[in-house]
Amino acid sequence: MNTSGTPADAASTDPGIDPALTARIRPVVEQLRTSFDQGLTRPLEARLDQLAALRRGVERMRPEITAALAEDLGKSAAEAETTEIGPVLHEIDHVRRNLATWLRPRRVGLGLALTPGTAQLHREPLGLVLVIAPWNYPVNLSLSPLIGAIAGGNTAILKPSEVAPATSAVLEGLVAEHLDPAWVQVIEGAVPETTALLAERFDLIFYTGNGTVGRIVARAAAEHLTPTVLELGGKSPVYIDETVDPATAARRIVWGKFTNAGQTCVAPDYLMAPAEVIEDLVPHLRRAVHEMYGADPHRSRDYGRIVNARHHERLMGLFEGTTAVLGGPDSADADDLYIPPSLLQDVDWDSPVMQEEIFGPLLPLLPVRDSAEAVARIRAGEKPLTAYVFSEDENVQRQFVEETSSGSLAIGLTVAHLGAVTMPFGGVGESGHGAYHGEHSLRVFTHEKPVVRKPLRPDTLRMVYPPVGALKRTLLRRLLG
Ligand code: NAD
Repeated sequence: MNTSGTPADAASTDPGIDPALTARIRPVVEQLRTSFDQGLTRPLEARLDQLAALRRGVERMRPEITAALAEDLGKSAAEAETTEIGPVLHEIDHVRRNLATWLRPRRVGLGLALTPGTAQLHREPLGLVLVIAPWNYPVNLSLSPLIGAIAGGNTAILKPSEVAPATSAVLEGLVAEHLDPAWVQVIEGAVPETTALLAERFDLIFYTGNGTVGRIVARAAAEHLTPTVLELGGKSPVYIDETVDPATAARRIVWGKFTNAGQTCVAPDYLMAPAEVIEDLVPHLRRAVHEMYGADPHRSRDYGRIVNARHHERLMGLFEGTTAVLGGPDSADADDLYIPPSLLQDVDWDSPVMQEEIFGPLLPLLPVRDSAEAVARIRAGEKPLTAYVFSEDENVQRQFVEETSSGSLAIGLTVAHLGAVTMPFGGVGESGHGAYHGEHSLRVFTHEKPVVRKPLRPDTLRMVYPPVGALKRTLLRRLLG
């Protein structure tokens, strides 16, 4: 099968694309297409081997990965392990254990009208896929999609984020050293490289990042009718009421919010609660920050840094018009890219901090009358990637399940649900489309092809061939209706 035709061969003539980049990228695309067309990635054993090679690479390069994450994001070794390396290894193991079962063709019934006959659903690879990754969990969010791409039997190009340059370089080395270059290649770079890549034709583009670039990706993909998975962000809300133990809830909220200094796509973005619950909760939130990061989080080995000066400046602007009841702009340090864990009150729904995804360690606390107002506030905004509810009241829980829409809904916990490889992870509406992890990755990285077999004898289809008289019509109505 030849999948290499590029109908809109515009890359080299588009004035926005550097011809030198096209000259570098196109041969890689062609090489990976050729190896796909030659069937390199089809055998189950070969896929399992590549996944095992990826696992070995991650294990062997653990020190380099950990050092790069510390350099790019001030990520502690412990956090690197729990949020980056560990989940990737776990995903590989889960996929390797189950891949044979997941790939087994699934029998489905055909109904009376097509009897005799049999039908199966086959998962076939898509071809060449492009994975564009962000900087906040640069290892996990590069390699987890790549695991799906390999498991699905596709060749792949990975474009890590230039905003985490040390990690990008390590990923490039890891893939070059441990994976088959005819199967996976890394192309490092920023906007020019991504733009040149997007002009090429892929069979799937898997993009994780912000919605503005998501739209650029979707537009470029449309040129080739390429499907996309868009893993985007949004303002993930928390609602908490008086029915829960505030100390435990506070620890879970603080951990989910301030891990990676708040630069997590599913981090609680803002918190809503009745005013008296907020009043009661604040000391518990303070205590939880103190327990996890000490009296001065600036000196904590467990507390990360903002990725760069641009984001530091952006976040400092979001303090405007708010009152910090913990942390705040005065103890931030631009030279060290440090912003303390901050709890904000006197926040208005029109405040700057409520106009965009925060993506940093600022937690606005907003009083609402009750759960109905919280639901109405969520519904008034874009659909978030996740919503969080802390309430023992089953009616309140049901209200959020039934009346709000979000990529996922977590009751009684934050962030940790992403570790469950059995659940699809993805957004809805403005927070993206398509979901992955475990078997769900296989679903997005393959085409489920119905394969139908019908014996030529007896020729039961004669029933539908014209001329269709009264008798045939009656019979057909019985069969099909
Ligand atoms: P980023 O700036 O690293 O961008 C992501 C990728 O897009 C990078 O590879 C980058 O090179 C590329 N890119 C940037 N500008 C481009 C352009 N003009 N044209 C083409 N490509 C371009 O990461 P980010 O977007 O700052 O990441 C943060 C956002 O990602 C947040 O909104 C966050 O919520 C979201 N996010 C979502 C998930 C998820 O799984 N749903 C995970 C992490 C982050």
